[in-house]
Amino acid sequence: MGVTRGERYRLTGHKWFFSAPMCDAFLVLAYVEGMGEGGLSCFFLPRVLPDGTRNTLRIQRLKDKLGNQANASSEVEFDGTLAWLVGEPGRGVPQILAMGTMTRLDCALGTSGLMRQALSIALHHTAERSAFGKRLIEQPLMKNVLADLALESEAAIALSMRLARAFDQQGDEQQRLLARVLTPIAKFWITKRGSLFAQEAMECLGGNGYVEEGGEGIPARIYREMPVNSIWEGAGNIMALDLLRALRKGDVAAALAHELAPARGQHAALDRMIDTLPTLIDHHATEATARTLARDVALTVQAALLAQTAPSAVFGAFCDSRIAQRHDVFGTLGAGAGVDALIARAMPA
Ligand SMILES: Cc1cc2nc3c(=O)[nH]c(=O)nc-3n(C[C@H](O)[C@H](O)[C@H](O)COP(=O)(O)OP(=O)(O)OC[C@H]3O[C@@H](n4cnc5c(N)ncnc54)[C@H](O)[C@@H]3O)c2cc1C
Repeated sequence: MGVTRGERYRLTGHKWFFSAPMCDAFLVLAYVEGMGEGGLSCFFLPRVLPDGTRNTLRIQRLKDKLGNQANASSEVEFDGTLAWLVGEPGRGVPQILAMGTMTRLDCALGTSGLMRQALSIALHHTAERSAFGKRLIEQPLMKNVLADLALESEAAIALSMRLARAFDQQGDEQQRLLARVLTPIAKFWITKRGSLFAQEAMECLGGNGYVEEGGEGIPARIYREMPVNSIWEGAGNIMALDLLRALRKGDVAAALAHELAPARGQHAALDRMIDTLPTLIDHHATEATARTLARDVALTVQAALLAQTAPSAVFGAFCDSRIAQRHDVFGTLGAGAGVDALIARAMPA
């Protein structure tokens, strides 16, 4: 997309969310007077003007948030604030989405990182704490929970890193199409799983997981942080609806099929899922069922990635628990899941 730094405008009005207000420059959307609803445009808004004076930027208050405390979010008032048009007038949304798409990748990567941190803390705690005569990590049911969390964490990392690779290789048409379809899928699914994951990892520490003091507060902080990645940069429904938009372009569905092809022939349930995906896409290509589609496509892509990147114990357990069956509560892996191998792989060296 060609970006031009264009005409200078004065912005007036209230902005309800304005994060990181200490930055030197911002991109904001605002309506150009006289263009009506079609005039939503993108502007570059510097804190300091070219003549060295400060731009008018009135920070009215900082938001009091559930988590995400290290990132200040404010409400601001623009009052004749100077800003430069970026791109064409009226094309603000596509213009800012060029950046927003990257931050959706960040949401998926950030959530995967938080999952891995929460898992490491849970593994460490359960390896040290004994209850009912054994270390927690040796208790069969805790093994099931930890192994299940490890599976989820590995699948989240595989999907977010695959998306990152597609972003890195945008010059290739297959990768560009994949990035288009995997962005809403990864943002939707990984961030949705993140909150459930954080709760379960926190529970592995028992009461100490819930308290904030004494250096034990990291799981609680991760738990409070998780939902924001699902909400900002387009909440879950917006991602599911964006997936529908992406799939309306026939070549995107073909790119997805091409990505899944190498995973064929390794697990019967995954083969069935890949076979039925075109029907699922047709069947669930309605707004009301878009989340079902986003979930199913996400799980299929995660399984296909694990077929290539993970040991067979991980791939098999993922397909058994998430593709052959519907996964709900963590710690419900079947008897043949090989939980020791899954935990050993996830254990920090
Ligand atoms: C901590 C934090 C920091 C933020 N920082 C910034 C910032 O710096 N700059 C900035 O511009 N914004 C910022 N935001 C705003 C954020 O991007 C939005 O809050 C978010 O994208 C959701 O939009 P909304 O609040 O307008 O919710 P709404 O659009 O009102 O959505 C509310 C709910 O309705 C659902 N929904 C919306 N439309 C549909 C539909 N058609 N069909 C079905 N469901 C629908 C959504 O999925 C959501 O669940 C921040 C938000 C937070 C929480």
